[in-house]
Amino acid sequence: MRIAPIALAGIAAIAVPAIAQRALPGAVKVDPAVAKARDAALKDDVAYDIVEGLTTEVGQRLAGTEAEARARAWAVVKLKALGFKNVHIETYTMPVWVRGEEKAEIVGPYPQKLTLAALGRSGATPPAGITAPVVYFPTFNDLLAAPDGSLTGKIAFISNQMKTTQDGSGYGEYGAARFVGPNIAAKKGAVAVIIRSIGTDHGRWPHTGGTNWTPGVTPIPAAALSVADAEQLERIFARTDKVSLHLTLTPRTLPDAESGTVVAKVPGTDPKAGTIVVGGHLDSWDLATGAIDDGAGVAITTAAAKRLLDGPRPRRTIRVVWFGAEEPGGFGGAAYAKAHAGETFAMAGESDFGADNIWRFNVNFPDSAKAIGDRIGVALAPLGITRGREVAGDGTDVGPLFKLGVSAVDLNQSGTRYFDWHHTAEDTLDKIDPEQLRQNVAAWTAVLWIVANAPEDWGKATPKD
Ligand code: ZN
Ligand code: ZN
Repeated sequence: MRIAPIALAGIAAIAVPAIAQRALPGAVKVDPAVAKARDAALKDDVAYDIVEGLTTEVGQRLAGTEAEARARAWAVVKLKALGFKNVHIETYTMPVWVRGEEKAEIVGPYPQKLTLAALGRSGATPPAGITAPVVYFPTFNDLLAAPDGSLTGKIAFISNQMKTTQDGSGYGEYGAARFVGPNIAAKKGAVAVIIRSIGTDHGRWPHTGGTNWTPGVTPIPAAALSVADAEQLERIFARTDKVSLHLTLTPRTLPDAESGTVVAKVPGTDPKAGTIVVGGHLDSWDLATGAIDDGAGVAITTAAAKRLLDGPRPRRTIRVVWFGAEEPGGFGGAAYAKAHAGETFAMAGESDFGADNIWRFNVNFPDSAKAIGDRIGVALAPLGITRGREVAGDGTDVGPLFKLGVSAVDLNQSGTRYFDWHHTAEDTLDKIDPEQLRQNVAAWTAVLWIVANAPEDWGKATPKD
């Protein structure tokens, strides 16, 4: 790290790391009302109550299915019971993909079953399955380098070992094997694809998740092996490259169906000051109850907004948004931005990275509202959260709002455990640490309080309810 000396008149020069200089809070003081709300949120039980209730009383919430509809009904009852105003559902239609049978068995040289899960939007094998030789690609780049046509009649196995990172950036890097690997293999002639799960564990729970097909490419069967089974298959390939697999995957794509996003309001006093959107996604994959992805996110942001609902009426209106259909491709977020494109928003933010401690924040406000970032900095510092160097704007659900120019606050949660369970049968309530969940609520409470009551004005605002 570069050390930048600073010289003070009459005082011997001292060396302060550049990053520390940047983080010096200067004369900014924490508003006592913000500190009080933040500290009270460290005893919050509302977030845990929401995620416990949602995962217990609804369970898995696959987008576009009756389970997701039950989750919306549950959300409406819950948000009304918490006292939120104008609780309603905004609907849209979307293609629905449902899991079928999924089995894999090595035919030779060492016959044995493998554990796997189909990827979202996977194509299907015939009901009796297919048997084909397997071609092993140790990395995603090895697949890219394979000549066109070289996979004709074969099953591609993309191993691709994801590493843990605190900021979750490994997902973008290693996730390519899932996001686009099957499409690339299909174009090179493969009859099916199996990937090593995009996960940081070594367990036998496969990680599902969506995959993408470009126009003109017919979806082929595509599934993720559990990490343990992928490692087993690698050991077999270390002995021989003559491996054949019997694979049965029978997912289906159903006719377009209704999905929806649940919206609730904390009324503000100044309708011209712009609306704040905060939330997470209500849908989950179908393998578990979606506690960390993303029951925690809707729970955290709702509990934080509830603290403003129960406090002095804020200047700005806050909309708590439980987006639908994030997992299969962000349908809820896209529909929301489209429906509300004519409005002006003061800020948007989402929580969709589990329930572990927030360690960093970033903002993106125009110059006229720049001081908000400094006020957030001093309010979050006691929670162990420091300011990052990035420009905020993360999130599948609020991403379409950012594209419209809406200001952003990102609160980054620790990702060191998240990808052990992400999109697996292990995404269950026990993975949530109530203490860390409360730290999240405290941080979002402070952010919402500061932004909702900020005296600055940025942009013109004509929000509708
Ligand atoms: Zn998510
Ligand atoms: Zn997810």
